[in-house]
Amino acid sequence: TLEIEQLSKSFGSQPILEQLQFHVKEGEFVSLLGPSGSGKSTIFHLIGGLYKPDYGSIRLNGNEISGQKGSISYMPQTPSLFPWRTILENVTLGVELFEKPDKEKAKKMLERAGLADYIDAYPHELSGGMRQRVAFIRSILSPQPFICLDEPFSALDEFTRLEMQKWLLSIWDEERPSVLFVTHNIEEAIFLSDRILVLGSKPAQVIKEFDIAFDRPRNGELT
Ligand code: ATP
Ligand code: MG
Repeated sequence: TLEIEQLSKSFGSQPILEQLQFHVKEGEFVSLLGPSGSGKSTIFHLIGGLYKPDYGSIRLNGNEISGQKGSISYMPQTPSLFPWRTILENVTLGVELFEKPDKEKAKKMLERAGLADYIDAYPHELSGGMRQRVAFIRSILSPQPFICLDEPFSALDEFTRLEMQKWLLSIWDEERPSVLFVTHNIEEAIFLSDRILVLGSKPAQVIKEFDIAFDRPRNGELT
């Protein structure tokens, strides 16, 4: 369970988050929607330990993780790939911090994402949407049980996006990670989530919350 309590963050004199509060239960898939500039990526930077909160707490399974990197798996909005490493090396980099990476599994995932021909290529040889899929695979290969995805499919065409959504749901079905997912696409949020939180801005607050009452299609029913 991820518990965010009274989380506050300002940049200069601009309060972005003020006393923000929400929870994600173990194995739950929660989407975060909200206007551009409302603070969604800032929340992820705080959960990922890249920024320190001014006030408040972020607890994962009871442990305070604010200001600590590496407690969750995190895919930033702008994919940050290492330009001097191949695509295969880039996707296994996150795993290397914890265990010996399974290169065959990584290759299979790249193939599944339509990147079979780019396994040994370098990031500059890929399109924006391809790089986004590489960053996505890196985040789902990491053995962390909590995954934060910041608009992971925003650069993809509709067809590829649907394929990736189905893939993410099948991973969620099999491994039941907790997922916090940012998107501007309401249909995507409804398709994927157990629960949707809508943020208002200045400062960011959860202004609406929806439980997705119907059962989502399960793995076997997707194809
Ligand atoms: P989008 O949907 O466009 O990705 P967002 O909800 O993710 O938007 P954030 O990136 O979290 O929004 O930005 C929220 C606010 O915080 C914006 O006003 C932005 O200018 C400000 N901000 C974010 N990071 C910094 C920073 N490092 N320094 C100063 N201001 C920042
Ligand atoms: Mg953002």
